[in-house]
Amino acid sequence: MIDIKSLTLEELQGEIEKLGDKKFRAKQIYGWLHEKLVDDFAEMTNLSKNLREKLEQEYELTSLKIVQVQESKLDGTCKFLFRLSDGNVIESVLMKYHHGNSVCISSQVGCRMGCRFCASTLDGLERGLKASEMLDQIYQIQKWSGERVHNVVVMGTGEPLDNYDALLRFIELLTCEGGLHISQRNVTVSTCGIVPAMRKLADEKLQITLALSLHASSQEKRKSLMPVANKYDLSEVLDACRYYFEQTGRRITFEYSLVGGVNDTEEDARELTALVKDINCHINLIPVNPIKERSYVQSEQRTILNFKNKLEKSGINVTIRREMGRDIDGACGQLRKSYMDTEK
Ligand code: SAH
Repeated sequence: MIDIKSLTLEELQGEIEKLGDKKFRAKQIYGWLHEKLVDDFAEMTNLSKNLREKLEQEYELTSLKIVQVQESKLDGTCKFLFRLSDGNVIESVLMKYHHGNSVCISSQVGCRMGCRFCASTLDGLERGLKASEMLDQIYQIQKWSGERVHNVVVMGTGEPLDNYDALLRFIELLTCEGGLHISQRNVTVSTCGIVPAMRKLADEKLQITLALSLHASSQEKRKSLMPVANKYDLSEVLDACRYYFEQTGRRITFEYSLVGGVNDTEEDARELTALVKDINCHINLIPVNPIKERSYVQSEQRTILNFKNKLEKSGINVTIRREMGRDIDGACGQLRKSYMDTEK
């Protein structure tokens, strides 16, 4: 069955004409799906009963079910566990900032990238998410909270550029006029550095922000933390970042998870400065969130501040990621992992 929520308006028009109905119906259906966010064809009350029944027979309507919500008492951050129609579970996070609500979504069920400190990858990759499944994380969260979502970051479980076509379709549907119409500038896609896909994305000339998970200032160290570095050398990855900026004019975000005693020395900060100083960028330092399956620990608070000061003194834009939801299963993939472990 065709997944109706993954179709663009144009594609939907083609489908409705095939069903022998008027083209303008497609626009109505699109509005029900992407603006009014309904979960059932029966709710599309301005369509004839006959058409609703036809839709029901011919199309699948993706709708994620909330399994669990964890709300932080510290900052209101909410973690959601959703069940997909095939039984898999995924997680998403709602963060409330002064500048608006931000949702962090998953792009895959599991992940095959193998980053050493990340919980999302421990059980490998199950499958990529469909565009509708990425969208519906945002739709369900917006409905649950009753508040508009302003920013979307594709930084949850999975490697978005390992699910390229669905990701692009998702961005189109999320940012187009007939849907939530979120500005491309308010969308960030985070990658571990799949070079050909980064270049392809640059050529799409979108206005989204590309975030690169850098995490180390030398090829050797990066290899020890991120298996993907065996495939793509650090210099190639940085060249792809430069290319992204050339093509889009969008400043790159580098994510750098500080791991105690691994990548947090003054020498690391110096090397990092040299590495990125000719790139129009912003560095986001993330104190590593320890997971029980690995022995990595967080850097000391003064080491983190010292690292940040060193970069700042060299004229680099840098922030320390505010830790949201410390009291809930905050780290990437932790909630899903703990849920699945108890289910087993
Ligand atoms: N696959 C994408 C998105 C993943 S998650 C990517 O690699 O960028 C978003 C960020 O969180 C990445 O930078 C990832 O490396 C980082 N991350 C994952 N687990 C973490 C942990 N336990 N502590 C700190 N950062 C973590």
